Amino acid sequence: MKAPSQRMLDVLIAGRGPVGLALAIALDRAGLSVALVGPPPVAPTPPTSHKWDPRVYALSSSTRDLLNELHVWDLVDLNRVAPVYAMKVFPDSNADVNSVDFSAYSAGLDALAWIIEHRNLTQALERALRFRDIQVIEGGVGGGEIEVFPSHVEVRAEPSSAEPLRARLLIGADGARSGVRTAMGLDGAQHEYEQHAVVANFLGEHSHLDTARQWFGDDGVLALLPLPLDEQRRGRLSLVWSVPRARADELMALTPEGLAATVSNAVHGQFGRLEPLSSAQCLPLMRLSARALVAPRVALVGDAGHVIHPMAGQGLNLGLGDVTTLARVLAQREAGRDCGEITLLRRYARARAEPVLAMTLATDGLYRMFYQAPVQIAPLRNLAFRALNQLTFAKRWMVTQAAGSIF
Ligand SMILES: Cc1cc2nc3c(=O)[nH]c(=O)nc-3n(C[C@H](O)[C@H](O)[C@H](O)COP(=O)(O)OP(=O)(O)OC[C@H]3O[C@@H](n4cnc5c(N)ncnc54)[C@H](O)[C@@H]3O)c2cc1C
Repeated sequence: MKAPSQRMLDVLIAGRGPVGLALAIALDRAGLSVALVGPPPVAPTPPTSHKWDPRVYALSSSTRDLLNELHVWDLVDLNRVAPVYAMKVFPDSNADVNSVDFSAYSAGLDALAWIIEHRNLTQALERALRFRDIQVIEGGVGGGEIEVFPSHVEVRAEPSSAEPLRARLLIGADGARSGVRTAMGLDGAQHEYEQHAVVANFLGEHSHLDTARQWFGDDGVLALLPLPLDEQRRGRLSLVWSVPRARADELMALTPEGLAATVSNAVHGQFGRLEPLSSAQCLPLMRLSARALVAPRVALVGDAGHVIHPMAGQGLNLGLGDVTTLARVLAQREAGRDCGEITLLRRYARARAEPVLAMTLATDGLYRMFYQAPVQIAPLRNLAFRALNQLTFAKRWMVTQAAGSIF
């Protein structure tokens, strides 16, 4: 860790999650002076670890392209990453009927997504960060410590240094409960979903055939994402089960073996007996849109600016879309403009408005259609799903959108 300095930085980033880390690397590569404030990272996992992180991400093609460009993908442990070549979505919790099937092959893509553990991704980002000339300050940015001036912003990182950090632009990459967003008066619409997500990993008896599966059941959305096969070609699987709070409490009260049996039962034993590979975690779910993504000398990226339901596995991809756009806008600024000028920041906000709104409406609309609409529409909904499965062009369009040309 380098000692803080009081020189005028181009950019100060608050938040050391995947979005803040990727942005710091992208902006440093663009030639800007960057400092990053956030809590220290967790200790690296030995490559041979048999423990699997229950928090995983489905990364889109455009996210992988960004990570390649930032030389982060080279640092990922690829033995722990699984490609998704196909996806089956079931409009109810019945067995293998009426699914809408997506395939990378039909859409002309390398893969629909890549499943990576949170730990694997952030360790690669942290390693890439160490190769860059980025000042890293272990701490946090609290609301009372930010002062905005016409030409720059001053921030005291906690535990506080005597001298404030000075930058042309402050970026809030500090997640869903962003202190930067609140301090800058950018809090907007927020809605806590009635669902919580229970996440855990399992080993099945059979291969998952590199296929992600998702069931829109009566009590919630159950997704089983492929993780790498084991030495006997049995499928490791990552569960994201979004269920009402009371059901989440019930699932969390089960033993790991009890949860494995419940999941196996819910998916009609498709993978045979499931064996637990991790403990379970429970995460509250919300939808959130900041009032604006920018203010004078301030910008928000990632979950600090927008949070969506995880059913589409797109929240981080959306946040890394912010990174690509903001890095491009700042790198291409006209001579004489500094990074925090509002004219420049508005270009970023305008470019992100449509993809963020589209994904927020899509995930929220699906949630409402399945969990807030009258039960009478269920047959109609299932009919629509069956029809969609026949529409090859519509499915290809959906896949290429989700793969990331715009998100
Ligand atoms: C169950 C579940 C499954 C998901 N699956 C997927 C998926 O498959 N694909 C996908 O794309 N997305 C997925 N998401 C969404 C994804 O997790 C988020 O969009 C992503 O983590 C956002 O990253 P971030 O860096 O913006 O925020 P975070 O990951 O929340 O990181 C914010 C960072 O800021 C730090 N911080 C907080 N306060 C301060 C402060 N005051 N000062 C400094 N630092 C601070 C935090 O410690 C943290 O390190 C899923 C979400 C859930 C809940």
